[in-house]
Order: sequence, then C-alpha cells, then structure tokens
Amino acid sequence: FAPWADPEAKPLIRFQNVTKRFGTFTAIDNLSLDIYEREFFALLGPSGCGKTTMMRMLGGFENPTEGRIELAGKDISGVPPNKRAVNMMFQSYALFPHLTVWDNIAFGLRRDSKPKPEIEARVAEMLKLTRLEKFAKRKPHQISGGQRQRVALARSLAKAPKLLLLDEPLGALDKKLRQDTQFELMDIQEKTGTTFVIVTHDQEEAMTVASRVAVMDEGRLMQVATPDRIYESPNSIYVADFIGEVNIIEGTATPDGEETYRIDWADGQEPIRATSARSFATGEKCALAIRPEKVTISADRPAEAVNAVQGKVLDIAYLGNISTYHVELPSGTVIKAQTANTRRISRRSFTWDDPVWLSWTVTGGVLLAE
Ligand code: ATP
Repeated sequence: FAPWADPEAKPLIRFQNVTKRFGTFTAIDNLSLDIYEREFFALLGPSGCGKTTMMRMLGGFENPTEGRIELAGKDISGVPPNKRAVNMMFQSYALFPHLTVWDNIAFGLRRDSKPKPEIEARVAEMLKLTRLEKFAKRKPHQISGGQRQRVALARSLAKAPKLLLLDEPLGALDKKLRQDTQFELMDIQEKTGTTFVIVTHDQEEAMTVASRVAVMDEGRLMQVATPDRIYESPNSIYVADFIGEVNIIEGTATPDGEETYRIDWADGQEPIRATSARSFATGEKCALAIRPEKVTISADRPAEAVNAVQGKVLDIAYLGNISTYHVELPSGTVIKAQTANTRRISRRSFTWDDPVWLSWTVTGGVLLAE
C-alpha cells in the first residue's frame, strides 16, 4: 500500500500552496500536500506548529488565506463543515450525556432523516465494528473511558465520511489502554477504508498507526514520509531530533571514496567515517545523526570497528527491555548508546565511571547538512 509512490494515483486531499494567516501571523506557510484514499495520515509537530489549523481547514472551520484545498478533485473552500464528506472526532469526544450509546451513534443519521431500518442497520454495524454491542443501552457515564472513545469513533463513522479527522483521539486514555487502542484504531480504519488524518503530539503513536507521517514546524512541512523513512532517513537535524532519540555529531566532511566521507569533528577526536547518498563538498559543515541503538558499547575496542571512541559511563537509564548509557568523551561530548537487555546479566554489564568504547558502522548514522 503506497499510493503516494504511484504517479497515476489521485489524491483524496490536496493542499495547493496553502497559506493561513491570522492577522499578520502566518500559521500555515505556502504548504502543499497530498493525502490519498485509505491512508492513515499523521500530523506531528511541536505545539503551535499549525497541526490544528490544518485540521480546521480540512473540517471547514477555517478557510485558507491563499491557495486551495481539494477533496476528491473539488475545491472545498467556502463549503460549510456539514456539507463536506468529512467528520471530526474531538479529543473531548463531545458525547451527549443524556443519550444512550445507541442514540449517540444514531444521532447524525437521524438528523439527516435517514429511514429507520437504515439507521438501525448502520448503528448495529457500528456497534459491532467497535465491539460495543453489550453497551448499546448504557449512557456515557455508565461506561469506561476506552468505551467512550469507541462510541465517539462509532458516531463519527456512522455517516461513512470519506475523511475522518482525529484530534488527539487517545489523549484521555492511560498509556497501556492507549497502546491497545492504537491497534484497534488501525483495525477499524482498515475495515472501513476511511481515510484518517490524526493530530497527535505523541510521536510513538504517530509512528505506530500511520501509513505516512508529516513532521511540521512553524507552519511548514519538514518531511512527509513513512514512519520507517522518517526514523531511518530523516532529512534534517530537526526531524532526526524530533522523532526518537539521536546523537548529533557536528563536523566537516571530506569525500573519501564513493559515497563515503571522512568527518573531522569539532572536539579533537579521531576522524570518523560515514556513507551518504547526499553529496558534500570538501570542508562542508555537516552533522552525523546516529540513533543510540546503532551505537555499540564494549569494554575493549572492537577489532573490526571503523568508528570507535573512548569514554566513561556517566549515567545509565535502565528501562527493563533496554538500557541507555550516557558516555562522556574526554572533550565533554556525551553520546548515548542503547543496548537491548535480552539477557539478565546485561543490566549489570557496565556501571558508572567504567571506561568503555563506543563504536558504530559507516552506515550506522545519517549525514545531514548542518
Ligand atoms: P497544539 O499542539 O498546541 O494544539 P498546533 O500545532 O495545533 O498546536 P495551531 O493550533 O494550529 O497549533 O496554531 C498554530 C499557530 O496559529 C499558533 O501560534 C496559534 O497561536 C495561532 N493561531 C491559531 N488559531 C488562531 C486564531 N484564531 N487567531 C490567532 N492566532 C491563531
């Protein structure tokens, strides 16, 4: 499933050079983006980057100041929210407290004066989809938070929108329930084939559920790609740093063989080597981004290691399945190395102040422009 890679595929949603200003403030800055049918698309970025504004423009609660937004090939500027094949599920769920689960789900269908048998069939289908059959007669205060979340989802899908917008849909749930619900959400999205656009500040959540993730900053798209590409091949220090943990080593690049560079880094360490598909000129400033799990920690310098530096253990974060070691180099630079705790003993492998070696391969990091 990769419609974005198919030049023939027609996007369901198309932002064309969209700018949104509030007074003199530019919330969305000349942004273009295509989202395809059946995608589970995540908008991710720090507070204030413009995620909600994007959603509100899709929902019809705001119009672009410049540019256009198309839904299934038609310009939707000026089309009111209730006239769009778009629905929005709010973080607060906004369920009607005095109505039963069944009536909450039926609400939009009744308002559209659908025939009774159609409403009954559709509500039954939604109750089954969200595993709420047993709770149909209860009121929102008589069910759990997770069940309420499912009622809100069932209600937003009842009218079979082309596009469902989800604003922090799992924000009110605790971590464990949230993780289970993520899989449920993916399952429901797949079964209905509805395009989902989710706003979340939780990067793990975005990476878990989404077919593609857009990382935003100050009203602009920094990178739009599949979760694994965003993580493995970030296009900037900003994206590398925003998603997951990363070590950034700044230095200057010198070509050293095909797609390979020698990097002289600022603090007097032995040069390191890295491959890069992007080319760098001799002496060009660069930054190597390396994920902590790509850095191996050992007592001795591994014989075959191309990149190895010596330091001492400054801090250890034991997280059960993994441990993260903060290792200080003589220059004061701190590098994080993560080990998978597959064996019990690994927990006690190294302790504070232990002298250690850190090593990584030439392909272990991503070379970025500074
Ligand atoms: P959060 O994660 O905190 O919800 P966000 O990425 O969703 O943030 P938006 O709500 O889209 O951010 O806001 C983007 C920027 O636009 C913010 O700086 C915000 O203050 C500004 N903004 C949003 N709505 C308005 C408005 N109606 N009038 C003026 N400024 C606004």
